[in-house]
Amino acid sequence: MARIAFYDPRQRGSRHSVLTAAPAARRRQTRRWRAGGGWQLALVFLVLLGVNAYVFLFRKGTSVHELMRASSLASASGLGVPGAAATGPGRGGAADADAAAAASDEDAFVVRGTMKGYIGLSAALAAAGLTVGQADELVTALGAELDLRALQPQHRFELRLDPRTRAVEQLIYQLSAVRKIVVARGADDTFKARREEAPLELQVAEVGGRIASSLHGALSAAGETAALAAAFVDLFSWDINWYTDPREGDEFRVVVEKRQHAGKFYRYGRILAAEYRGAAGRFRAYYYQRADGTGAYYDADGRAVRRAYLKTPLEFRRISSQFNRKRFHPILHRTKGHLGIDYAAPQGTPVWAAADGIVGAAHAAGGAGNMVVLRHAGGVRTIYMHLLRFATGLRPGQRVRQRELIGFVGSTGLSTGPHLHYGMVVNGHPIDPQQFKIGAGPLLPTEERARFLAAIGASATKLGAIALAKN
Ligand SMILES: [Zn+2]
Repeated sequence: MARIAFYDPRQRGSRHSVLTAAPAARRRQTRRWRAGGGWQLALVFLVLLGVNAYVFLFRKGTSVHELMRASSLASASGLGVPGAAATGPGRGGAADADAAAAASDEDAFVVRGTMKGYIGLSAALAAAGLTVGQADELVTALGAELDLRALQPQHRFELRLDPRTRAVEQLIYQLSAVRKIVVARGADDTFKARREEAPLELQVAEVGGRIASSLHGALSAAGETAALAAAFVDLFSWDINWYTDPREGDEFRVVVEKRQHAGKFYRYGRILAAEYRGAAGRFRAYYYQRADGTGAYYDADGRAVRRAYLKTPLEFRRISSQFNRKRFHPILHRTKGHLGIDYAAPQGTPVWAAADGIVGAAHAAGGAGNMVVLRHAGGVRTIYMHLLRFATGLRPGQRVRQRELIGFVGSTGLSTGPHLHYGMVVNGHPIDPQQFKIGAGPLLPTEERARFLAAIGASATKLGAIALAKN
């Protein structure tokens, strides 16, 4: 991704920015110029020329000074197109031109720009006629709501100025067709940024398939994206050891919300129901909002899907895209007397706390390398070895929650390559984590059972009806 340099003095100026200036009242016309042919443009230009001549000759308050100021803004915007030239006088008269106000409620002065190359937003705003102070004030306010490194070429922005004072009223920064950030003056007269999202249409999609080499591959073959694979992996991370359980031919089905904008897929909503059926067993998860308003996933019997221990303490969704059982053996060779499981994973893969607990140790420990020991309820300890490094600020005595980041996969200590050694100790006795019995999730109260079955009924029917392609 291209990074935007914000205060790059080399880029000051208008060479890299395309800025258009047009009064709000004429935005529609501006759009038409872009879409239309040359003759339309000439016609519109002529009309504007007439309006401007009228404004210039017959209206009061249209000083030459104002006209010059206006056209200096237009030229600062780097525009040689009729839009800018026509805008100047229009704006000068403008304000004054109640004609313009009558055509539209907005009489703000509008400047549009597009981020180009490596120009900084401050520079682009300065090119639009703002002082360095004004531009900085806006960029600072925007930075409170948005990581400024996320700004990209082709992002559009719009500046609305007060026609009389030319004070900035709003900066609208368009992140995508759907998302934008609006910076406007708050009650205390300082600029505040807020996010706005265009309304999205909701669609419920049903997806199913069989695993050939990976879940990720099967979902992408079904036309879905990695985000759905990630959500699916996370949903079953208490039931399925994604490293060891999947087999070729395993089946998955999912009923998922899709949010669309202008008829195009924008993002996934919630997974409403999902099923995984394979050698490891058959697992189902339904989203259910309880009478008290809390939402969570439950199996068909009303048992919480979430349980005390994760099957694997690795952020598997991060590596699932490169995880191909045919090419990559995830479990390293086990030697005699080696209690624990070695998960091969790319260096830097996040390592999670397998369960809620307290940090017992986090230090370098000889052959174990950088090691974390967590203490859990019931005399259980989990051990994580060979970490590249610890999560920032991790200290003994600290409370951690399940799935909280504790470190990153590395190859410290006695290790031949990046992997996580995951060990478990129960009441002082080391055990194989794969043999550890993870208790069942809590059951919904009996009085809520009828409501639960009614709520998941439609999803359950849809899930059961998903046909898998024969292969
Ligand atoms: Zn090991």
